[in-house]
Amino acid sequence: MERIGAHSHIRGLGLNALLEPRPHADSEGMVGQAKARKAAGLILKMVRESKIAGRAILMAGPPSSGKTAIALGMAQSLGPDVPFTMISASEVYSLSMSKTEGLTQAFRRSIGVRIKEETEIIEGEVVEIQIDRSLTGAQTTGRLTIKTLDMETVYDLGTKMIDALSKEKVIAGDVISIDRASGKINKLGRSYTRSRDYDATGADTRFVQTPSGEIQTRKEVVHTVTLHEIDVINSRTQGFLALFAGDTGEIKPELRAQIDSKVSEWREEGKAEIVPGVLFIDEVHMLDIECFSFLNRALEQELAPLVIMASNRGMARIRGTKYKSPHGLPVDLLDRVLIITTAKYEPEDIEKIIQIRCTEEDTKLTHEALNILTSMAMSTTLRYALNLISCAQVAALKRKSPGGMVDVEDLRKCYTFFLDEKRSVQWVGEGTAGLIGEHEEESQHRME
Ligand code: ATP
Repeated sequence: MERIGAHSHIRGLGLNALLEPRPHADSEGMVGQAKARKAAGLILKMVRESKIAGRAILMAGPPSSGKTAIALGMAQSLGPDVPFTMISASEVYSLSMSKTEGLTQAFRRSIGVRIKEETEIIEGEVVEIQIDRSLTGAQTTGRLTIKTLDMETVYDLGTKMIDALSKEKVIAGDVISIDRASGKINKLGRSYTRSRDYDATGADTRFVQTPSGEIQTRKEVVHTVTLHEIDVINSRTQGFLALFAGDTGEIKPELRAQIDSKVSEWREEGKAEIVPGVLFIDEVHMLDIECFSFLNRALEQELAPLVIMASNRGMARIRGTKYKSPHGLPVDLLDRVLIITTAKYEPEDIEKIIQIRCTEEDTKLTHEALNILTSMAMSTTLRYALNLISCAQVAALKRKSPGGMVDVEDLRKCYTFFLDEKRSVQWVGEGTAGLIGEHEEESQHRME
């Protein structure tokens, strides 16, 4: 059974090369928030070019305005090789380690070390043919899986492919197949497609054409591990198994220093490179002054990831102090972050998000139901409206609606079953709930 998460429809930031939002149909699940998405795209570009490390971004905006969605969109666009760690600020209090150790581990989980290794290509492997067109500066990559062929055929195919690639308009990411006899290239699209002869996917080996035109049959295998993984493997007797158990414990600063110097040795020898990733801290106002001062210092270290924080608070007390500050962040930290704001949604955007979620959840709404749900989202919250989709679907199926179509009556039913945040405040405020209020609870404790 496939389970659908709150953000499973987000597949990227949906921007084109000029960082303009792409049309809705091609938006990778993203709707509206053009300014915030463009700003996030700019940051991504800098991360990719490794121009940014030790920088911090604050995503500030009202609840359910897409802060987490944008951060996840950034993570999706970075690709699997770039580490992305997501924590909620309150997690640092619930770990069996000090707050600063928890944060240090989160930092080091967000920094990758790409380690290169060279080995021979062997028969039956997946190879990627890569041509570096130094004149134009463009790089062309084609991929194909060699299925149990003898090495001679591999050479032959490789040469044909390189030849054809330089003539045809094949761009990085294209999936292609090649006719063995004629050397003709067929484009199979830009995603996984099974060709008759070859699986053109999942390459991790390279055929590289040297300047003299010959093909090298050495492949470069690249593994990316995080600094935290290296720390754990070296700090425990059970080594990498601790990573599976999740019980990593506290790691000694001396060990980390040793690992940092080892990694910098590898870098100098050209064996490894650093991949600064992204650390996303949600609900950042939950951190306290000690954590903030740690963050300030950690961001200044050489090996620091890009830190994205998110908060939906306006003026709020900085935890651990009696002072108030914007978003609950101390002003010195606030001063060093780039702030991206998200705005409340217009009805058209909300309608589109609802439609995307309905497709994701395989639910059909009638036109009227869509209008009603959009206005519900405007008067309550987007998240409440999105939550109602699956409940309304169950209601529609229960009354055997034609084609399982959700109509206004299903939404109405769910609206009466489940309170939104405003109605819950009202219900508690009326004192009809028979619940114990904060003050009563306190006095009861004192009496005890
Ligand atoms: P909070 O401050 O309460 O944590 P948030 O700003 O992080 O809220 P999200 O959790 O990102 O809000 O958004 C709420 C829901 O709406 C999620 O399911 C999210 O995927 C979806 N969503 C929000 N904005 C967009 C958008 N621009 N495009 C598509 N989906 C969105």
